[in-house]
Amino acid sequence: MAHDENAHICYKVPELFFEDGNIVLSAEANSGTHLYKLHKGVLFAHSSVFSDILSLPSTTSAMTDVNEYYESTPVVHLSDNPDDLTSLLKAFYYPSWRRNAQNCVQVLPTLILAQKYMADDIRSAIVSQIEAEWPQNIWQWDSLENESALKPEELRYFAIGPFGGPDEKMPASEWDDYFPEPASAIQLARVADIPSILPAAFYQLSRTRPSDDFDEWRSPEGTQLDPMREFKDDKRTARWSRLSKDDLYRLMLGKEAMSEYASALRATIFNDTKFCSVVCADTWKYAPSLKSDDILADLQELCKPRSSPGALMCERCRMKVNIRGVKERATVWNELKTFFHLV
Ligand SMILES: [Zn+2]
Repeated sequence: MAHDENAHICYKVPELFFEDGNIVLSAEANSGTHLYKLHKGVLFAHSSVFSDILSLPSTTSAMTDVNEYYESTPVVHLSDNPDDLTSLLKAFYYPSWRRNAQNCVQVLPTLILAQKYMADDIRSAIVSQIEAEWPQNIWQWDSLENESALKPEELRYFAIGPFGGPDEKMPASEWDDYFPEPASAIQLARVADIPSILPAAFYQLSRTRPSDDFDEWRSPEGTQLDPMREFKDDKRTARWSRLSKDDLYRLMLGKEAMSEYASALRATIFNDTKFCSVVCADTWKYAPSLKSDDILADLQELCKPRSSPGALMCERCRMKVNIRGVKERATVWNELKTFFHLV
């Protein structure tokens, strides 16, 4: 049988097979046995479960094979998927992070294993990085928006760019890969219990068109954009298929709620603002409407200095309008949980 033929094939996992290691972990895949030669001290430091397993005499541990050695080093067999285990162990030895649209997909199995092995510091570090990718307040949201307002040719020169430094060859197709992707973030938040990222992820998804699907725009490997389709510089996509039915419904409810909120707000936003003159008040006849597909951006636009043909709003009234805009945008941000039924 194919499985039996492959069972004896041993594969030393690159980067996780240290000659000076003092314990070998093994995990089975159809392709053979993956071997990791590691240091007990490192495993102890990160995981209380590893600490327990490796401290037990081999004869009493359900996860060890009695008296088994690989090149004179004791072996512990684990039942985990080798790819997932590799991700977790790499987090022990090579902690690093780079913002990427794939992150929420990639860290999901790592977080599940970190929970199983009670690697609490690793879990906390990953959750902190994911939370840093998804704005927790309106100021962080605006900061991310400012980045997304850059064109790819500008982003190439960012020292904190997706390639760790300026990269003049970054193609426009990488643009979407540089920003966090909302549907997989929502899936991760549900599975790994990270509710703090939901409001921003839902808001980003609410302004993403259903036809702009992450996978549709890429090859099956998820890395190379389909060369037959033109990828616009500012296109943002989502992995729509990862959204559960319940969350899709929450998204629809949120869009409806925001649309109604925007209509009501546009009608009343400056009712209690005391403009200094009829001239300043009249500039509002020429103000744009709140379109509601991106109410935060619309409010920012609405509360910029306004003018009417032949008249400019005075400095004092501009200040009032600006402050009102700041206040209303902060309120909208705080209402996102309610709009999307996240509470
Ligand atoms: Zn005025």
